Amino acid sequence: MSNLKTDVIIIGCGPTGVILAHLLGKLGISVRIIEKEEKIFPVPRATHIDEETLRNFQATGLMPQLEKFTSTFGTMEVYDANGKRLFHEEVIQPDSIHDYIGSRFFDQPEFENILREGLKKYKTVELLTGIEGTSISQSTNEVTVTGKNNGTNEVFEFVTSWVIGCDGGRSVTRAALNVEMDALEPARDWIIVDTILKEEAFATLLPNRFQYLFLPERLTIYAHGFGKHRRWEFQLNKDEKAPSDETVKKWVSKFVSLQKVEITRIAKYAHNSLVARKWRKGKVLLAGDAAHMMPPSAGQGLCSGVRDALNLSWKLSAVIKKEASEKILDTYETERKAHLNEILKRTLFIGHRMDGDNSLQKFWRKFSLQIIEQIQPLKNYLRKTYNTPPPLKGGCLNLSSSLAGHHIPQTIIADRNLFSDDIVGYNFALITFPGKLSENQISTAKEKSIFILHEHVEIKQTLLSKWLDKHNSDFVIVRPDKIIFGNGKANEYENVMSEFEKWF
Ligand SMILES: Cc1cc2nc3c(=O)[nH]c(=O)nc-3n(C[C@H](O)[C@H](O)[C@H](O)COP(=O)(O)OP(=O)(O)OC[C@H]3O[C@@H](n4cnc5c(N)ncnc54)[C@H](O)[C@@H]3O)c2cc1C
Repeated sequence: MSNLKTDVIIIGCGPTGVILAHLLGKLGISVRIIEKEEKIFPVPRATHIDEETLRNFQATGLMPQLEKFTSTFGTMEVYDANGKRLFHEEVIQPDSIHDYIGSRFFDQPEFENILREGLKKYKTVELLTGIEGTSISQSTNEVTVTGKNNGTNEVFEFVTSWVIGCDGGRSVTRAALNVEMDALEPARDWIIVDTILKEEAFATLLPNRFQYLFLPERLTIYAHGFGKHRRWEFQLNKDEKAPSDETVKKWVSKFVSLQKVEITRIAKYAHNSLVARKWRKGKVLLAGDAAHMMPPSAGQGLCSGVRDALNLSWKLSAVIKKEASEKILDTYETERKAHLNEILKRTLFIGHRMDGDNSLQKFWRKFSLQIIEQIQPLKNYLRKTYNTPPPLKGGCLNLSSSLAGHHIPQTIIADRNLFSDDIVGYNFALITFPGKLSENQISTAKEKSIFILHEHVEIKQTLLSKWLDKHNSDFVIVRPDKIIFGNGKANEYENVMSEFEKWF
């Protein structure tokens, strides 16, 4: 292990840290990523990822390997204490533009394994496992991270220009920055039980559905999961102490014989709704659970950490390469925090539909879910409102453009199954069609190293052109995270570019 100064140190190689390392590696940034555990935690925490997150994982170039460890999420159902179905929903983003249809279960340990192995392709990325970050100090120009080898107790000092704390809910980085978290709601304790079916054939003994069960004793969640993984979550009543493992096993045995499953984990965990007050201090930034935590009701915690990584990497790279000033890093918090707060609000909305701590809440949850189920336009409205990811509303965007802050659709381009994201890569891109912009306009984009899509591939299919027409646009400038910076008719191009030039 060398202790040469790197551009970036990432503390924590969970889902957020590993994606960040991939993207920075792709951009040629030198990264040292330290992870306190020697091995990947073998039991999944997250089980669900949405369409946008699948697309974001695609940015690593590892989708062909990752996709094998995903399966359709399918239907979510809610049942009352008498076994009557109150509500059901296909977990799918309406009109998803990401080229993935429907949320998916995934195998988190396999994902992390593939992603960590994948880091080996970057010459500038070094992953050090078994090294725990213990303290951080920064001066104007550099940051020193002290790390301890958990096996030998040897202590190291790593010097770097930037530190990103991706070290989860109990973040040492956040503590070192002395950053507090705001709680949007009080925490609520749950018991989680992860199991593996002993035989594939036992799958028929349990529903292949994600279910909320309003049992008289407690709110219970059952998730059919990826492969043979099956999970139960039991909400503890307020002030209830954590039960013994034997008690929890009895709870599970009401659903399936314990002879048919192997229990891999019984744990108590808290549903937190926490957002760090600041996501950056000087040359140290926070991402993923280190910056925010949310209950898993909408399966968005990991998805949000991955979004952080997609949003931050290109900005940090531009600063390191002196292509942009540090001001752009402030847009990371502006953009992500507003988006995160919206996702958290939606998560809490879903969670509150299931609350049943007293008879009034029990009556209301049943009544309101039945109403939503029966009134299709209301259900459609809620689906659209709560299942369509919000756009970014401010930050590094040309805010006067109609599509600024929205995702560009991902489409298959040409007749060779080429996905637009794969061709563009993690770069700025100009999407237009020959003849729409002048040569002069295109050359100003080239001077700024913007990738001109139609110069690299013949775009045969018309989906993108139809989409541009629908939005009355001759061109779109897309950021590396596939968020639209600006768009418009040819005569608006100079305005969009001049806004771009304020940043780069
Ligand atoms: C029961 C449960 C169910 C969930 N379900 C979903 C879901 O379905 N979908 C979803 O999107 N999200 C879900 N989540 C949330 C999701 O698991 C987290 O949001 C996600 O794991 C956060 O990733 P992260 O990389 O930011 O942090 P973590 O996963 O916590 O990773 C942090 C990493 O940093 C390492 N580390 C910590 N401290 C140090 C240190 N000092 N030095 C070096 N390394 C350090 C840790 O060992 C770890 O590897 C769920 C969470 C729980 C608990």
